[in-house]
Amino acid sequence: MLSLVQRTLAKKVVLTGVGLHSGKDMRLELHPADIDFGIQFRRTDLAQSLPIHAHAINIHSTDLNTTISSGDARISTIEHLMAAFAGLEIDNVLVKLDGPEVPVMDGSAGPFVEAILDAGVALQNANKKYFVVREVFELRQGDKWIRVEPATNTSFSMQIDFKSSVIGAQSLNFEWSTVEALESIFVSRTFCHVNDVTAMQRAGLALGGSLDNAIVVSDDEVLNPEGLRFNDEFVRHKLLDCIGDLSMLGAPIIGKFSAYKSGHGLHAAFMKALWAKKSEILTIVEDMQHISRQSPREIDSAAVIGIKS
Ligand SMILES: [Zn+2]
Repeated sequence: MLSLVQRTLAKKVVLTGVGLHSGKDMRLELHPADIDFGIQFRRTDLAQSLPIHAHAINIHSTDLNTTISSGDARISTIEHLMAAFAGLEIDNVLVKLDGPEVPVMDGSAGPFVEAILDAGVALQNANKKYFVVREVFELRQGDKWIRVEPATNTSFSMQIDFKSSVIGAQSLNFEWSTVEALESIFVSRTFCHVNDVTAMQRAGLALGGSLDNAIVVSDDEVLNPEGLRFNDEFVRHKLLDCIGDLSMLGAPIIGKFSAYKSGHGLHAAFMKALWAKKSEILTIVEDMQHISRQSPREIDSAAVIGIKS
């Protein structure tokens, strides 16, 4: 799927749920927004809160989640909501929140996707912009790395490797095609080790965490009574995080992504570095109509570069 035009919500969406780290109930409102508005967050509990653009340059911290900020206003745990917008190809939304965190819901993007699809998606009368990758770009931190290279379609190749034998080494290759193909990614839940839960709660984090909003593992078993949704739910969730975090340049990136043991910190560093070098690595395409081919979301990057240069 490759939307040629910008998209927003057909109507307002309201969701409530607990914030993973604060443990407090949050009210989340998603409002339709005009063309070229992008995804912007506003804190309704702060009198002077400026809107915060969901852009890589506004990422403030990546400690177990992705947090954006503007002035004193911060909003945490935006990554699964951002993945829902990216996966449903939604460009323009005003997100209102009465607290510092997007509700964790069930630990996946499933409830956001369901609520958005219930409200409906509206097409807008403006071309959708894309970034096409022109050069290979890679960032390494220790043994972890993430890379993007030129391709005619967006795809991801993810690898994780955890000590817990329940998780272990998992890999996933994913070619972006339809919303249906993303279904198992949307509903894959976040996860943590039971020892980390205790440590986080002592540090005042994950106060809202429970077996209802995360997979909790020990060294050798899954502690949730219902078990896993997929055998490889862990790597599927890592891909969800990746889709959310990598959607924050203001337009989707068409390219082949690969990542090894990546997480929010590496994703954010990668996006900031990519943004700083965007004139070398990326070409912005403002009218995909002229270059889209018969198969959806497939484009000829050479043709794109030819048009823009
Ligand atoms: Zn996540």
